[in-house]
Amino acid sequence: MATLTIPKPKDCYMYDYVIVGAGFAGAVSANLLATHHNKKVLVIEKRVHIGGNCYDEVDENGIVVHRYGPHLFHTSSKEVWEYLSRFTEWTPYEHKVLAHIHGKNVPIPFNFNTIEALFEPTHAKQFIQKLSQHYPQNAKIPILELQKNPDEDLQQLSNFIYENLFVHYTAKQWGVSPHEIDSAVTARVPILIGRDDRYFNDTFQAIPKHGYTKLFEALLYHPNITVELNKDFLTEVCWQEKRIGFRNDFTCKIIYTGAVDELFGYCFEALPYRSTDMVFETMDQAYFQEAATINYPNDHDYTRITEFKHIHPNLSPKTTILKEYPKEHCKEITVPYYPIFNDKNQEQYTQYMQKAQHFSNLTLIGRLAEYRYYDMDDIVLRALNTVGIA
Ligand code: FAD
Repeated sequence: MATLTIPKPKDCYMYDYVIVGAGFAGAVSANLLATHHNKKVLVIEKRVHIGGNCYDEVDENGIVVHRYGPHLFHTSSKEVWEYLSRFTEWTPYEHKVLAHIHGKNVPIPFNFNTIEALFEPTHAKQFIQKLSQHYPQNAKIPILELQKNPDEDLQQLSNFIYENLFVHYTAKQWGVSPHEIDSAVTARVPILIGRDDRYFNDTFQAIPKHGYTKLFEALLYHPNITVELNKDFLTEVCWQEKRIGFRNDFTCKIIYTGAVDELFGYCFEALPYRSTDMVFETMDQAYFQEAATINYPNDHDYTRITEFKHIHPNLSPKTTILKEYPKEHCKEITVPYYPIFNDKNQEQYTQYMQKAQHFSNLTLIGRLAEYRYYDMDDIVLRALNTVGIA
């Protein structure tokens, strides 16, 4: 496994900021404060490594793996791309995903190529013609929206996609029926009006050349930044009526990127999350599957298998795959991966957010602190906009 070395300035005991969490939200905030605002920053991270859920490492076969699930960087924000490019070189990478349907591996997002792979030619041609008549080229139509189209052929197609790609996958992933999930989440399963097999269509798509962990080391490498790993902020947090402190110091500002319900002792009950068992397997063969990720909407208890050699090419005679088994999140035991969006949970989150606003030195940034699904580039942009470049 990779060994991490973060330099620690020896005589730096006073901090302007304490940042909780060394994921993208925390590391970018720390970097901006240290380099652009000349602030002294203490980063507290409860895991034994930096990088949050984007952490990657080299396994015993020399293959780079992503411990918390496959992370593919993609953005259309020039600002985010240029900022991160100061800390890493990139290897161009466009993610391709297949779905295992009726014994075949077919491209997703579901597009014209998928239709041709699954239906006999006359039928396929008819579906493609109808889609082209009803929707603009390259549009992404959420499956629940396609279902509302009264055209008979499109009804047949949308029922097929709903049944074979959507409903069982959603049930497995979220543990509930699709209608109980917010449309912002279900919109992530669209049908594409065209033939673009790429999973993302952002302007910039790449993997950090030396991995995410090295990128985080570069972000945090600054004499104004001290990183303490394996330290839970909550063991030394302290409270005043309007300020939050750390180690009995109430003067510093706190940027908190952990779970907001945990910060406030679950006083409005725990916010629901979905978790996942990440199960890595080494296979005694050069390659296991034909694409980086294959989704299993209908078969098996896992949702997908990712083979990391497709993302980080490697000459090893072995290969490492990851199977993801979604499951209920159990607070303080499993990793909270995905916030579960619905009105009730949003209301509950609002209560926490309002409570946080009482503390004048507290800022919440990040997927756990804001109880939102953010991609990596969203989080970098959040930090850039919140902390700012002086
Ligand atoms: P995190 O990365 O979770 O970092 C928060 C950190 O805070 C953690 O390290 C945690 O240990 C620490 N912490 C929490 N509480 C405390 C405490 N009390 N004391 C000290 N430390 C604490 N995005 C993409 O753009 N592309 C992808 O392909 C992609 N794939 C994903 C796959 C999966 C399975 C998941 C779950 C997410 C994926 N994402 C992807 C989203 C990406 O992971 C997030 O955007 C990013 O990790 C958010 O960064 P963050 O800093 O907000 O949170």
